[in-house]
Amino acid sequence: MTELGDGTRCVHAGLADPVPGTPLLASPVFGTGYHLGHPSYGYGRADNPTWRALEEAIGSLDGGECVVFPSGMAAISAVLRTCEGRLVLPSDGYFVTRSYVQSELPWLEVVEVPTAGPWPSFDGVGLVLLETPSNPGLDVCDITALAAEAHAAGALLAVDNTTATPLGQRPLQLGADFAVASDTKALAGHSDVVLGHVTCSDPALAARIRESRTFSGSVPGPFETWLAHRGLGTLDLRLARQAANASAVYKVLSSAPGVTGLRWPGAPEDPSHALAARQMRRFGGVLTFCLPSAAHVDRFLAASSLVTGATSFGGLHSTADRRAQWGDPVPEGLVRLSAGCEDTEDLVADIRTALSTLDT
Ligand code: PLP
Repeated sequence: MTELGDGTRCVHAGLADPVPGTPLLASPVFGTGYHLGHPSYGYGRADNPTWRALEEAIGSLDGGECVVFPSGMAAISAVLRTCEGRLVLPSDGYFVTRSYVQSELPWLEVVEVPTAGPWPSFDGVGLVLLETPSNPGLDVCDITALAAEAHAAGALLAVDNTTATPLGQRPLQLGADFAVASDTKALAGHSDVVLGHVTCSDPALAARIRESRTFSGSVPGPFETWLAHRGLGTLDLRLARQAANASAVYKVLSSAPGVTGLRWPGAPEDPSHALAARQMRRFGGVLTFCLPSAAHVDRFLAASSLVTGATSFGGLHSTADRRAQWGDPVPEGLVRLSAGCEDTEDLVADIRTALSTLDT
């Protein structure tokens, strides 16, 4: 049978077989102690049926064994703690990952590499973490080639797949050992939950990550897990609208005076497009561009009635974030814009109006 489409897979992912009188999406299970005798469910820190349902769902989309975490950072830090040897990190990826390593894993020798390369030899490296497309710069790197080089050097390779989501890119199929993500963003998609996951190609790695979750006590709440599962059902629909909106907004921004450094891997003229089109299954709704100054960004946001200033992305609502305010090493006027699920004509008209206030 041919593989089912993304929409069908999202709608049905992780649902139990139908049993008369039970809900379509099982309700969250809040148990701490369970009546003993079940092979998995004994104590709430070790396992939970609501986690397992979302793990089954995300694992089926990522193509591996998934372990859910209470945030993207909890997921990433569990993977980083497996590192034996040197650690390679993106210099232009999510900055808290670098801060975490500096402050909590100071014994690790770290090599920081920009996502667009050039990439050094991986001799002596234990773990390579890629973030592609990177946040906020939206550069892309070749997962297949880098996974092959990492494996030849005896290293494991992880991909932060947050911006792409399991529908946008399947890192495990491209050779990665771990796909990690902040599901706080597009996967849950409604700006009402913080969650993350690690999906592993090898069940032995998944067992190690699961054990690390149990030992560290870094466990997601059942209600948050359930909310993410509910949100996942519409991921295909949301991504389609977000990508259509990003494409339309890209066109507006590309001819707007004062806008520089415009990036969206989905645009044929973007420097990452050829590689992104080869390794990604579809594009998302996040764009990056620069306005001349922080004050211009403030004016842009004040003049827009649909784009709100918020430091997350991938949700239903269009949002924009001036990344330098959080310490990202980027120009003061760099904006990461996350196109939401508004009607394209409305969003385009709103952004045109907001941009028109900048040249006065
Ligand atoms: N990875 C990327 C690319 C992110 O953008 C973020 C958050 O912005 C994270 C990881 C961390 O995720 P969380 O905020 O869910 O801990």
